[in-house]
Amino acid sequence: MSKGLREKVEESIDVSALFAGRSDVIRTGPLQVSLQVTGGEDVIAVDGELSIDWELACSRCLEPVQEHTVIPIHEQFKPASESDGENFEEDEDDDVIAVEGDKLDLKPIVEEAVQLFMPFAPLCSDDCKGLCHNCGQNLNEHTCGCKTEKIDPRLAVLKDLFKEEQ
Ligand SMILES: [Zn+2]
Ligand SMILES: [Zn+2]
Repeated sequence: MSKGLREKVEESIDVSALFAGRSDVIRTGPLQVSLQVTGGEDVIAVDGELSIDWELACSRCLEPVQEHTVIPIHEQFKPASESDGENFEEDEDDDVIAVEGDKLDLKPIVEEAVQLFMPFAPLCSDDCKGLCHNCGQNLNEHTCGCKTEKIDPRLAVLKDLFKEEQ
């Protein structure tokens, strides 16, 4: 990475493989990457944002929810010293990333960010009634015949367990 280098990265990345097998991620649109990479004397700055449209399962009723997530990126990296030779290892320190020659691998940064910023417990609507914990009926559609006391929040955990088993 040369001094004073400025490079704009505009890319569209398929990240579906990162979420493969997850029942709470129904569909991921391409991740839009828009970053400015600036190479300084002993630090490389990566600034910009990522954005993605995706379809996630409502955390209460499991119906698809459309989400649009914008992830700001402001990172600084130390280039690995060239004197370390060919087979330098990635440092334990997260702020240090291996830079080989003129290549800064943005993939790990981008992949980590998108996993970190995935909406936690998305809801189809703020007053989603969820599923009946007894018969599984989507209570937004209609009520079931079960004797429903108010759902004990502790039982909500059970619903998540069932989700794992599928
Ligand atoms: Zn819902
Ligand atoms: Zn029911």
